[in-house]
Amino acid sequence: MSESMSTMTSGAESTEATANTPVPVVEGSSGARPAEPREAVATARRAFETGRTKARAWRVAQLKALRVLLVDHEAEIAAALHADLGKSATEAWVTETGFLVREIDHTLRHLRAWTAPRRVPVPLSLAPGRARVVREPLGVVLVIAPWNYPLQLCLAPLVGALAAGNAVVLKPSELAPATSALIARLVPEHLDPEAVHVVEGAVPETTALLAERFDHIFYTGNGAVGRIVLEAAAAHLTPVTLELGGKSPAYVADDADLPVTARRLVWGKFTNAGQTCVAPDYVVATPETLAKLKPLLVEAIREAFGDDPASSPDYGRIVDGRHFERLTGLLDGGRVVAGGRSDAATRYLEPTLVEVADPDDPEEAVMRDEIFGPVLPLVPVADLDAAIALVNGRDKPLALYVFTPSAVVRERFVRETSSGAIGFNIPLAHLAVPELPFGGVGASGMGAYHGERSVELFSHAKAVLTMPTRPDTTAWIRPPFTRFKEQVIDRVVSPGRRRR
Ligand code: NAD
Repeated sequence: MSESMSTMTSGAESTEATANTPVPVVEGSSGARPAEPREAVATARRAFETGRTKARAWRVAQLKALRVLLVDHEAEIAAALHADLGKSATEAWVTETGFLVREIDHTLRHLRAWTAPRRVPVPLSLAPGRARVVREPLGVVLVIAPWNYPLQLCLAPLVGALAAGNAVVLKPSELAPATSALIARLVPEHLDPEAVHVVEGAVPETTALLAERFDHIFYTGNGAVGRIVLEAAAAHLTPVTLELGGKSPAYVADDADLPVTARRLVWGKFTNAGQTCVAPDYVVATPETLAKLKPLLVEAIREAFGDDPASSPDYGRIVDGRHFERLTGLLDGGRVVAGGRSDAATRYLEPTLVEVADPDDPEEAVMRDEIFGPVLPLVPVADLDAAIALVNGRDKPLALYVFTPSAVVRERFVRETSSGAIGFNIPLAHLAVPELPFGGVGASGMGAYHGERSVELFSHAKAVLTMPTRPDTTAWIRPPFTRFKEQVIDRVVSPGRRRR
């Protein structure tokens, strides 16, 4: 590392700031919790402008404080997630709280390496110059979260944004009110209350936030609101990450291990009662394979949730009445082959299998939009080519799942289809690999995060070139261009002109 680089790094480290030491009072701030979106953004910006969020000590302290928040309040968090979505405490830990703790630990382990300036070589013509890439935080980041994993999808972007040294405004989903209220209470108690804000609310509050200028907007949710976010961001030329959804297909090949496939599909589909952005939306297979798979799926549902999933402590509920009506409406006229029972009072919808005759039939409601609930359509295709054509004929999915032992078939899906991710023989689990980028492509989103990707996403890679003044080696690129200089340019500075 060059001298200037080490000076810079130790300079950043010397700015001591921990979550528990008092933060410097920001000029113009009363120190009170801002209630309004505009005030939250202004306070966050003033905190960023003090420069303290850039210090590695501050970033580490915030990440550690967030870890304490999660671990110390595990039971309260589980209760809120149960109130909002009927999640069991174990599912809440595995898919939300524990997931975040692992992400924080991974980030803390690698933060120094991920954020250190990186020396890069300079071309001979610029010797003895020195070049490096310096990661700088963007400024104030807005995170707009959805309701389905209301803790994880609000705080996982926060981990990356803090690790990169930003101030952050969080907007949890109003459709998970218990989790939203808990985040709003705990975050200012544990994190730097001037640099990290929570604004609760629905469309009016989000609209007010979107009118403000941010340095990055990270939105997770549906594509219709994604368009609103992108339009609002355009007014300020703010970069945007859109973590959207869509229909994620699961292809089961004729040679798949069907009993294991059925169990994994049931786990992937019915976790969180199907309200998972990367849940297998529908299953595609030849009619022969579907016929063998169907009873195995029924058996796997029984294995996981018993004869009456309504009384299983491990089976969740639909988030609200509107989504409940939408999902039960999908079953009208459909060919329900298993499940289908529901209870509006408790927003319970049984794990349900539906047969689809023709996926391209415009009347086939379950094949139109993302299902986002515990309804699994079984879709027949003639063969592998038809399955690939079916995937390619629709929006690029957030995730694509293929169940087969055949490396040739797997490679065909990698080469011939496009999706945010591919999981072979397992749904959902790619999310748990911190070094895999998580994000969509096309209609399923833009941008990706998790692990180092998050730090890259929430920072700018600044190019820094340093040239000594003596000896002045730049004469070759300045006029007058004598014949001798031209020869040097052709041979050293910018070779290639005479090579055709
Ligand atoms: P949602 O209704 O909670 O909305 C998401 C956020 O947008 C909320 O904070 C909400 O307040 C805000 N919002 C809603 N309407 C708005 C408007 N008119 N203007 C401004 N902001 C507004 O969640 P949702 O959209 O129902 O979430 C489900 C969708 O999200 C599904 O499509 C799912 O696949 C997708 N999703 C994607 C991921 C991912 O990581 N890619 C994760 C979870 C969910």
